[in-house]
Amino acid sequence: MSTHVDILEMARQQLAVAAEYLELDSGLHSVLANPQKRLIVNFPVVMDSGAVQVFEGYRVQHNASRGPTKGGIRYHPDVDVNETSALAMWMTWKCAVVNIPYGGAKGAVKVDTKQLSKRELEKLTRRFVTEINSMLGERRDIPAPDIGTNAQVMAWIMDTFSMQAGHTVPGVVTGKPIELGGSEGRVEATGRGVVVALEEAARTRGLDLGNARVVVQGFGNVGATAAKIAEEAGAKVVGVSDALGGIYNPNGLPIREIFQRYAGREGGIGEYPDAQKVSNQELLELDCDVLIPAAISAQITADNADRIKAGIIVEGANGPTTMEADQILSDKGTLIVPDILANAGGVIVSYFEWVQDLQNFFWEESEVNIKLTKIMRASYQAVDSAMRAHKTDMRTAALVIGVKRVADATTRRGIFP
Ligand code: GLU
Repeated sequence: MSTHVDILEMARQQLAVAAEYLELDSGLHSVLANPQKRLIVNFPVVMDSGAVQVFEGYRVQHNASRGPTKGGIRYHPDVDVNETSALAMWMTWKCAVVNIPYGGAKGAVKVDTKQLSKRELEKLTRRFVTEINSMLGERRDIPAPDIGTNAQVMAWIMDTFSMQAGHTVPGVVTGKPIELGGSEGRVEATGRGVVVALEEAARTRGLDLGNARVVVQGFGNVGATAAKIAEEAGAKVVGVSDALGGIYNPNGLPIREIFQRYAGREGGIGEYPDAQKVSNQELLELDCDVLIPAAISAQITADNADRIKAGIIVEGANGPTTMEADQILSDKGTLIVPDILANAGGVIVSYFEWVQDLQNFFWEESEVNIKLTKIMRASYQAVDSAMRAHKTDMRTAALVIGVKRVADATTRRGIFP
């Protein structure tokens, strides 16, 4: 998403580090370095004005060795097929790190949803799904929300796929509204999982969350939920931002009030009066104990890493930290809980939603949250142990676990024919 960082190259370099640890055979390494399937579509939508506009979209399936592929659909003006491929690769490792039976995928449409009416958004979604329909299926590839998409978009995806199948197929997509087979707890799942990861990180670092000062970049579903749950856990959230900019108050910000009154409004959360205004870049460098980047990729780079003061970074976004920044921060002793672990709560509850859909048997929210927390804690502890055993950083440890599971599955299955 950033103009100067090649995200696919970054994902491939991360894989190369894990491959070296695992002494992966070069053939297997190149299988994992390349997505299995990529579809690029250009499709027309008749806009409200009557004019025809053509949009470009993608669906990328990275690796299906461990099960059907899984991953969100992103609507954003800066997406491209390479970034979508990197995000699909990260989904593969993410599902493997938390050991749920999926491979990774991702989809995207190059569009600024702020420029669309609701009707246009629906038409764009239905046409896009029709174009990528042959790749999808409840046993094949299961989309979910990501940046720019939500439960309503998932409902249209489910309906469009079902119309073509001739019967209702709730399990083809997750993150749906509850009344269409969505799961309790799914909307909050990523943010909730981020805070479980934060609790574990704080414990290992001897940081009392009750006294911790937290900064969150991004006030979309992940950032806003993580900020709210961190506040409930007793932390002092001193800085938050949305796409328009950030606000800072060293005495703490009332997150619930900011969410209810300012989030999603035209002026954004910057309209909250009792705080100092900061830019998104200044926000990252604020004096705090914990930084949660929960916006877009490549935010923490070689240009700002040495000015970041947080001792713990929990990655709510996918790919917020470049490899150069990783190095600078780990030399400083900063603990980075990597995206493929920290933000896995979303896909974990997507997995629960899919299981509930396939069984037509639905769980209570408390059951969802307990099971989510259990998987997040166990996965965190497994990655933490691997980090200590390999004397490496947490990202490498998570990649080693995830890549090994995928490599083993790929090897066990063998190569057809
Ligand atoms: N888009 C989310 C992610 O990046 C969720 C994916 C899913 O639930 O399938 O993890």
